[in-house]
Amino acid sequence: MAKDSRHSAHPVCRAVAKSHKRVSATADARLWSMSDTEVSEALVEATRLRARVEALELRLAAEADRRAVGDKVGATDTASWWGHETRQGRPAAKRRMRLAEALDRHAPTAAALTEGAISVDHARVITDCVDKFPDDLADPTIPERAEKHLLNEALDRDPKSLAILAKHVLTVVAPEIGEERDARALEREEREARAKAWLTMAPDGRGSYRGKFSIPTLHGEMLKKMLLAFAAPKHQAARRQDDQSEVAERRPSPERMGDAFCELLERLPADKLPQLGGLNASVVVLIDYTDLTSETGRATLESGEPISASLARRMACEAGLLPAVLGRKSELLDLGRTARLFSGAQRRGLATTQKTCTAVGCDWPAHLCHAHHDQSWLHGGKTDMKNARLLCPRHHARIHDPRFKTTHHPDGGVSFHMRT
Ligand SMILES: [Zn+2]
Ligand SMILES: [Zn+2]
Repeated sequence: MAKDSRHSAHPVCRAVAKSHKRVSATADARLWSMSDTEVSEALVEATRLRARVEALELRLAAEADRRAVGDKVGATDTASWWGHETRQGRPAAKRRMRLAEALDRHAPTAAALTEGAISVDHARVITDCVDKFPDDLADPTIPERAEKHLLNEALDRDPKSLAILAKHVLTVVAPEIGEERDARALEREEREARAKAWLTMAPDGRGSYRGKFSIPTLHGEMLKKMLLAFAAPKHQAARRQDDQSEVAERRPSPERMGDAFCELLERLPADKLPQLGGLNASVVVLIDYTDLTSETGRATLESGEPISASLARRMACEAGLLPAVLGRKSELLDLGRTARLFSGAQRRGLATTQKTCTAVGCDWPAHLCHAHHDQSWLHGGKTDMKNARLLCPRHHARIHDPRFKTTHHPDGGVSFHMRT
């Protein structure tokens, strides 16, 4: 007499069928009746269980691949068949199949996954790392030792930090070759990062430029440092005094960093930049003589994009932009090259009398302030100490903002009021 097919099934099939049944039984269970401890314990255990189920899944995938079950039903390969059959898609199935195949060769990692001690992502980091070792390693036990070391580290690290560690695992398990290889790998990475650096930017048609870039780590850190110098002077100072770790964690908001980026661009010394066709790489702004004095006037950038006259007036105080004043018939009256900007000596002098931003109540330090002409250079104001005042970027924008009225106080301070 033939036995019931379910009883004759392989233990793996029975276990899978049983698990389905057990999990189905929880579908109606009311989670609200669990205690907090039960919820948290069950959650952690369910995560571990997921890893164990995935371990079985990957073992089965490797077995299916060995038997070429996909080819037998006419698919390109087993991974494609698996991707289609389970609707996970081909790329995902291929990725998992690669891991299944790797776990087949790395028994300790496979065992750790089967126990639920590590996750699939940990397993991927470990096998990727060990598989990348060259075949001609002097000591054949190195891959084994590296795998063991990483498995140990995986017990209290997330996959991301494990991946960082994995990059330098040779320096731990085989320092003699690891350090040399690390140095070479680093050089290669730097070369590639420099060769592959890119930047794209385009106007969005609503008054902004948007862009993205990729630059080598060194340059990224340089840029970050410059931006932080503008974005968080107080935070930098605090960091020097206090305990380092905690303050260092606080990062300026994206808006603050964007502000700092604009500051950086406005402050770049145009005369130190490479020449463009014999001219400094400053942006030339064309402003009509009549627009100069008008509150609502307009100026035009070389590209034809308009900017407000008040922004042009503010920019005229600093170096980033070269104002070109046009007469009634658009003839060039003055190209602001000479004596428009305060010299280094003048600025140092200013900082001795004006230690902070001169707006009432503002303590932004002098070295981060702009030197503003009380009477605009564009209006014929002189670049001398009597006409100079230090203002932080925010208050500098405000003093040029036509919506605000500026009050000059006897002590040299200024305050602002919204015009009504
Ligand atoms: Zn100004
Ligand atoms: Zn200020």
